[in-house]
Amino acid sequence: MKRVVVVGGGFGGLQAVRGLRRAADVEVTLVDRQNFHLFQPLAYQVATGGLSSAEIASPLRRVLRHQSNARVLLAEATGFDLEAREVTLDELPNGARSMTIPYDVLIVAGGSAYSYFGHDEWAEFAPELKTLQGALALRSRILSAFEAAEIETDAARRAAWLTFVVVGAGPTGVEMAGQIAELANDTLRHDFRSADPSGARVLLVEAADRVLGTFPPSLSRRAARSLESLGVTLALDTTVVDIADGTIDVQPRDGERSTIEARTVVWAAGVTASPLAGLLATASGSEVDRAGRILVDANLTLTGHPEIFAIGDMAAVRSAGGEAQRLPGVAPVAMQEGRHVARSIRDSKPEAFRYRDKGNLATIGRSHAVADVKGVHLWGFAAWVTWLAVHLAYLIGFENRLLVLTRWTFSYLTRGRTARVIHR
Ligand SMILES: Cc1cc2nc3c(=O)[nH]c(=O)nc-3n(C[C@H](O)[C@H](O)[C@H](O)COP(=O)(O)OP(=O)(O)OC[C@H]3O[C@@H](n4cnc5c(N)ncnc54)[C@H](O)[C@@H]3O)c2cc1C
Repeated sequence: MKRVVVVGGGFGGLQAVRGLRRAADVEVTLVDRQNFHLFQPLAYQVATGGLSSAEIASPLRRVLRHQSNARVLLAEATGFDLEAREVTLDELPNGARSMTIPYDVLIVAGGSAYSYFGHDEWAEFAPELKTLQGALALRSRILSAFEAAEIETDAARRAAWLTFVVVGAGPTGVEMAGQIAELANDTLRHDFRSADPSGARVLLVEAADRVLGTFPPSLSRRAARSLESLGVTLALDTTVVDIADGTIDVQPRDGERSTIEARTVVWAAGVTASPLAGLLATASGSEVDRAGRILVDANLTLTGHPEIFAIGDMAAVRSAGGEAQRLPGVAPVAMQEGRHVARSIRDSKPEAFRYRDKGNLATIGRSHAVADVKGVHLWGFAAWVTWLAVHLAYLIGFENRLLVLTRWTFSYLTRGRTARVIHR
């Protein structure tokens, strides 16, 4: 029996496990430090009260309940012994200090985290939404800011509570800025008596000269117009130079540094690979790139270790020529890599991985989205419906699809958001 250990039940790891469901003579152990698969593309909707956490988090045990050759362990992988072919696990739910599990084949898919460009001290004041806990904390912070504005009597302080700054205008930043603007102008408009949520200022700060830099420029322009129509102020060509409690300092490329009084700052800028990439690189003598991703061969294995695969956000894939390919850090890349690895193990024939790019989508708000599907550009309502359909299709589990569809239908008809719980 071949023992396959998969670290990480995100987009890449889960596809690898499921791809092995019919593999004979294979037993799979999936290790994750959380007991659910998180559908990160909808985390921003949890952060803005549109969806509840359970609707985007599927218990791994339930997802794999019919796959008899797979078991799930709740633990954190903290080390790899490539000689002994063992993974060290910590944070065990039974309180034991640690344990090791043996493997014949290892697949590591630990994902990535946000990078504060060397300013980790900003994380306290500018949370991100890479994790479910992050999304829930952000939701409490955003909703609490409106509550604080309701109580505040000083006009300047109230304005600071009603100022929201989103850093980074990639898909996540654009989605967050659009949703906060909708929350303020639409959902909460009639819910307060002293504060006026529709007077909120939502600022989207981006160092580049356009939003959605990975999209064609024409779609970036359309997205910018949609954001502005929702009431978002764009600060392009502008770098964040400091973040403190209640303030953010920005520096436009050709302008003066200024301080903005803002009680809520959301971080949606650069990403860095999971620390597992560094651990694996040290253990195997592999290289990591500037984003901390481990470089793997074209067949997704570590050089000199045909039994170890690294996939998803934490891996950079070499082309046949040896240089790193520029694959985007998105779910389809991780999923295709996961399926590719499963095929390689099933067929005992590791072939070079080729990414099939099916397109790029970003939503901005109600009826506003942009899509670049194999060179066909969509925007507005058509792109928004495409975005809804794709996200529903990829969400795991029929029940969650039905719940999310129902919620979206209600929200669309009533302009409401009911998942507005503040955890204090
Ligand atoms: C807010 C947000 C929005 C996004 N929106 C989109 C989008 O709209 N479209 C799109 O295509 N992509 C989007 N992405 C990117 C996409 O989510 C990632 O590219 C994708 O999740 C990568 O898959 P992965 O398997 O590499 O990692 P992940 O899906 O992040 O999975 C990593 C898993 O590893 C586990 N793990 C990590 N470290 C350990 C450890 N030491 N021990 C045990 N388990 C561990 C984690 O708990 C997690 O379950 C978004 C990302 C974010 C953060």
